[in-house]
Amino acid sequence: MDFSRDENHEAIRAAVRDICARFPDSYWRQLDRASAYPEQFVRALTEAGWLAALIPEEYGGAGLGITEASIILDEINRSGGNSGACHAQMYIMGTLLRHGSERQKREYLPRIASGELRLQAFGVTEPNAGSETTRIQTTAVRKGDRYIVNGQKVFISRVQHSDLMLLLARTTPYEQLADKTRGLSLFLVDLRRAGTAITVRPLEMMINHATTELFITDLEIPAENLIGEEGMGFRYILDGWNAERILIAAECIGDGRWFIDRASRYARERVVFGRPIGANQGVQFPIAQAYGHVEAADLVRYKAAWLFDRGEQCGAEANLAKLLASEASWEAANVCLTVHGGYGLAVEYDVERKFRETRLYTVAPVNNNLVLAYLGQHVLGLPRSY
Ligand SMILES: Cc1cc2nc3c(=O)[nH]c(=O)nc-3n(C[C@H](O)[C@H](O)[C@H](O)COP(=O)(O)OP(=O)(O)OC[C@H]3O[C@@H](n4cnc5c(N)ncnc54)[C@H](O)[C@@H]3O)c2cc1C
Repeated sequence: MDFSRDENHEAIRAAVRDICARFPDSYWRQLDRASAYPEQFVRALTEAGWLAALIPEEYGGAGLGITEASIILDEINRSGGNSGACHAQMYIMGTLLRHGSERQKREYLPRIASGELRLQAFGVTEPNAGSETTRIQTTAVRKGDRYIVNGQKVFISRVQHSDLMLLLARTTPYEQLADKTRGLSLFLVDLRRAGTAITVRPLEMMINHATTELFITDLEIPAENLIGEEGMGFRYILDGWNAERILIAAECIGDGRWFIDRASRYARERVVFGRPIGANQGVQFPIAQAYGHVEAADLVRYKAAWLFDRGEQCGAEANLAKLLASEASWEAANVCLTVHGGYGLAVEYDVERKFRETRLYTVAPVNNNLVLAYLGQHVLGLPRSY
């Protein structure tokens, strides 16, 4: 085991922190109030190359590992920002990298790396399928050199701020499948050319996440935009889950540390009954407890990232990291809000905003119940529960 400080990692943290310092709490607060997208922030991050961290150098990216990518997102959330505005590009891009053709990679990855194109949208979830992805109903029917897509998607984020979307659609009817994990295919959709075939309806959500509902009518996708083999889309998505779980865990860790910092600072400074509130065990111990849980989750996150970067199996660790980190950040959020008393609910303190933002992680991109189901079945050998 080696827990020594890694100079490269420290340098990444410092560089990302410098960018984040240009986008203080007030920036995120105003966007939250206006339900607006952090356009300037995402541009700054892209120009500095951080959103291309996982794109190999031969395609114009930084060629870094998941550990480094996770540090970038961790640092954004720790600064008080919200990685949700841009994190998806990191894990969606992995699907294109692993399963796209050489032509697709040469065509898109360098332009994604340079910021000319954004691949921030991922269209999987549907109202009638929810977590049961193999039940999606959106169809893609091949007609000559195109696929014609019809259907509906829900909770699809950043579509209005993205040039490209990775879309999952059904190419074989569910009833005709012996193996229900087949029959779904992944497509790269050029949103700029979709015209009226995609109607985007913004959803009012608890957090500012640019989340929308999509109504897709006779969308034509060139057959050359199919990723990998037809019918293998669900498998390709599964392949991306470990990376996604590790990156989400890192965002939670960033949030957790932000909450612990703010709670500790406030508990030191706020004086009631003639002494800092942090002198009371009822205030101090919950902060210390939450701190312990965040730090413990962080170790699992690094273990998962380490395994991932070595190309080793990391399903158990990636899922565990996501579970523990999302629970730890939510605990820290609650503690931080409580420590701030009434000010915890005051918008200008940013605690309530971050509180809402971090709550998402126990729900999406994957619900913790499904993470527990994975651990129960695949790690503990328990019967499949769904
Ligand atoms: C802000 C936000 C942004 C999102 N962005 C995107 C996006 O960009 N692209 C995209 O494709 N999706 C996106 N999602 C969708 C997200 O991935 C889904 O919410 C998630 O997949 C779950 O689907 P559902 O909400 O329909 O819940 P359901 O599947 O209906 O589940 C409801 C509840 O039942 C529980 N449950 C269901 N089945 C079981 C079971 N077998 N065992 C135990 N518990 C179970 C779940 O854990 C959950 O608590 C987003 C969601 C949110 C909230």
